[in-house]
Amino acid sequence: MSHFEYEAVIGLEVHAELKTASKIFCACRTDFGAPPNTQCCPICMGLPGALPRLNRHAVELAIRAGLALECEIAQRSKFDRKQYFYPDLPKAYQISQNKYPLCQNGRLRVSTPTGTREVRITRIHMEEDAGKLIHTSSETLIDYNRSGVGLIEIVSAPDLRSGEEASAYLRALRGILLTAGVSDCRMQEGSMRCDINLSLRKKGEESLGVRTEIKNVNSFAFAEKAINYEILRQKELIEAGETVESETRRFDASLGRTVRMRKKERAEDYRFLAECNLPVLRITQEDLEPIRASMPELPDARRVRLCKEYGIAEADASILTSEPALADYYEQSAKQSADPVRLAHLLLGELLRYCEGDPFRSPVAASRLAELVDLLSEGSINGTTAKRLLSRLTESDFSPREIAQSEGLMQIRDRDALREMIRTVLAESSKAVADYQSGKQAAFRSLQGRLMAISGGRADPVLGEELLLELLSQQACKKGERDV
Ligand code: ZN
Ligand code: MN
Repeated sequence: MSHFEYEAVIGLEVHAELKTASKIFCACRTDFGAPPNTQCCPICMGLPGALPRLNRHAVELAIRAGLALECEIAQRSKFDRKQYFYPDLPKAYQISQNKYPLCQNGRLRVSTPTGTREVRITRIHMEEDAGKLIHTSSETLIDYNRSGVGLIEIVSAPDLRSGEEASAYLRALRGILLTAGVSDCRMQEGSMRCDINLSLRKKGEESLGVRTEIKNVNSFAFAEKAINYEILRQKELIEAGETVESETRRFDASLGRTVRMRKKERAEDYRFLAECNLPVLRITQEDLEPIRASMPELPDARRVRLCKEYGIAEADASILTSEPALADYYEQSAKQSADPVRLAHLLLGELLRYCEGDPFRSPVAASRLAELVDLLSEGSINGTTAKRLLSRLTESDFSPREIAQSEGLMQIRDRDALREMIRTVLAESSKAVADYQSGKQAAFRSLQGRLMAISGGRADPVLGEELLLELLSQQACKKGERDV
C-alpha cells in the first residue's frame, strides 16, 4: 500500500437553460410544466425536411454569459451535429458547437473556505436540449417539450480541487447567470445541471490521472457529495493497486454514492459533422456594443459596493449578492432604514427562516421590514418582540409600529416598573437567588429568563440586567447585615 498524498483534479461542465420565450431553432414555447408534447413542431421533433432557424435572443443571452464570465466572444462561430442514438434525441443528433464555440477563455472568481480562487472558463457553447424520458413500471414515455430548448454549456478548466470548491463555483456561477439575466437556474426544474470530470494524481505531479465523469448532477449539495465520494473511491482503487476506469457514472442520492452507468464514449464516437443547415454565426462589434452597455452590476462588484455603502460584513454581502433578487430586496429596504447592518442580520438570520429561504414566497414589503428594524434599533421593541412581529409580518400586512403600540408590545424601559417586576421575580425564586448569592452564574440567567417571562418578553434586556444586578446586590447587603 502506498502512502502518497493525492490531489483531485476537477472540471465542471454546466448546462444552463437560456431564458428565452421560444426554443433555439423553432418558435415553440419553452414554458415549464406544460402538458407533454404540447410545445413541439416538426423542427424540434426532427421530422424530415424541417429546417432550424437560430433564435436571436438565445445568441444575445449566450453572449451575456460570455461577457459576465470575461470571455472572448468569437466573431465567427459554428454549429455542428453531435451524433448519438437515444430516444430522447429525435434527429439522432444534437445541434451543438464543437470546434468553434461562441465564447472562450474566461474566468470566474470564487470565494472558497481556503481563500479566493480564480477558475478558468475554457469555453461556452450553444446547443439544444433533448426530450425527456419518463419511465413507468411497464413502459417508457417521451415528452418532446424540452427538445430544442436553448442551452449554454459552460466548461471550466480542471482548476477545482474539492467538493467544497466545486459547490462554491456553482453558487458563484448561478449568481452571475441570474444577475446577467441569462438563465433562471432552477436546478429542481433541470434548468441548470452539471457534469463533473474528476481524476486523482499524486500531489506535485503535472500529468493527469484517468478520469471519470459524473453526469447530470442537479443540486449543489449533491455535487459536493458526489465529488467527495468519488475522490475516496478512486483513492481506494489506486491504493489497492487497481486501475480507475474511464467511465460515466451518476450520483445516487439515496445511496450517497456514485454508480457506474457506462464505459466512456470517446469524443470521436460522436462523429461531429458541420450543421450544414445553419450559416456561420457572425458577431460584429456593433452587435456586441448594446449588449455590453446593458450588462448589470455583477455580484463581485455589487458585494464590494454593499459593504461600502451599507457597512455590512463581507460574508453577509456575499450571501445577498449570490441571489440578486435578495440583494435588490435588501437594498430597497436598507434605503428606508436607519440601521442597514441590523437589517441585514434580521433579513438573513430571521426572515429567511420564516419563509423557508424564499423571501418572495410571502413577501414582506421592504418598507415594513425597514420600519421593524428601526423600532428595534431605537430601542422601542426588543429582539424577542422583533422576531415575533417578523413572523407575523410574513402572514399579513400591517405597520409594525402601529401594532407594537396598539398591542402594548413596546419595550418596558421604565425603571420603576422594571424594579417592581424584579422584586416579584426575586420573591418567587428564592432558590435561584440563593444559588446566585453562592456564586452560581447560571442562576442569574434563570432570573433574567423569569423577568422576560413575567414582562411578556417586553423588558429591555440591558436595563433589566442592570437593575437585576442592582437589586440582587442590595439583597446581598441586607442579608450580610442580618448575618453579622
Ligand atoms: Zn418546435
Ligand atoms: Mn452538452
